[in-house]
Amino acid sequence: MTNQNVVVPEATPAITVAAAAKPPVLFPYPPPRGGGASAAAAIRKKHLSQVELGESWTNAWLESMKTSSPIHAKVAASAAAVPIIEREQNEHSAWIVRHPSALSKFEQLMKATKGKQIVMFLDYDGTLSPIVDDPDSAFMSDAMRAAVKEVAGCFPTAIVSGRCRSKLFDFVKLTELYYAGSHGMDIEVRKGTKYTKKKKTVLFQPASEFLPMIKKVHKALSKKTKPIPGAKLENNKFCVSVHFRCVDEKNWRVLLEQVWLVLKEYPMLRITPGRKVLEIRPIIKWDKGSALQFLLDSLGFADSKNVLPVYIGDDLTDEDAFKVLRDRGRGIGILVSEFPKETNASYFLRRPSEVMEFLLRLVEWKRLSLEDGLE
Ligand SMILES: [Mg+2]
Repeated sequence: MTNQNVVVPEATPAITVAAAAKPPVLFPYPPPRGGGASAAAAIRKKHLSQVELGESWTNAWLESMKTSSPIHAKVAASAAAVPIIEREQNEHSAWIVRHPSALSKFEQLMKATKGKQIVMFLDYDGTLSPIVDDPDSAFMSDAMRAAVKEVAGCFPTAIVSGRCRSKLFDFVKLTELYYAGSHGMDIEVRKGTKYTKKKKTVLFQPASEFLPMIKKVHKALSKKTKPIPGAKLENNKFCVSVHFRCVDEKNWRVLLEQVWLVLKEYPMLRITPGRKVLEIRPIIKWDKGSALQFLLDSLGFADSKNVLPVYIGDDLTDEDAFKVLRDRGRGIGILVSEFPKETNASYFLRRPSEVMEFLLRLVEWKRLSLEDGLE
């Protein structure tokens, strides 16, 4: 049903700070006395290798930032010759065949869900809210909030985001949902929701020992990135987001160099790319896909074949969740994107307004199913 066999593997850069920064040798200052020319040469060699390591790390990430920017591809296409545009249009059409619109295939999708319990997982930024220059102003509309509320009345529904959980709740403001903040490293299963019998709210925070480290890194990065116009840091409790949406491209290298200078001291942290954001997080094996599995377990659906998770997200970090669905062989992954992208999702929606339309159609389908006695 989910045409998983034709999904293109993801292209997330396999670069981590830990891998790049394994030998974080510091150039001692002041240089040690004595030792003669050979000691000085050894120190110089170490220093150079550190600089080279930093440079290759910066170059790799600079390339990643450019290639993950759809605007780059768009500008390149418009500046290119017509045959290239035609070729891109053909590639776009081929991509849509492999990843059809979840709206145009809605009836077909719903037939496949017959008799199954849908569990909804929704990313926040770029999925429920528009992507905006100021991450603190990424508000969802009242209409979207009402749609999510209605969906949560029909199906267990969770929000899974890179934001810290408290900020996420401030944006969404719905108590009937489950919240997984910090890329799933801060999960709250609230008591008293329609779908859980839990007598008390349960918190799951697999990276709690990293809290002091994340605080230090946030502080150090604040200092280092302050002089870079447009750079914005966000402390998301178990991770730090370095937003570069408003940083002029000519300053991307400087920004990366500053990030490198801080992170080379913290091999237990890694970076993952997002939409005009670098996400700095603990190197533990826990991501949005793990959060999806944890929430399914918590809701008592771990081994049920009659459960159909639906995950909607727009970012590279959502690919971990799409991959879990793909590996399970059950579930519907929906990528929110205006442009073709390599993805583990099976369907796509163009933008948050289409997500809202999809959610409302789901609610209507549920209502009609109940009226027809199909549920
Ligand atoms: Mg997002």
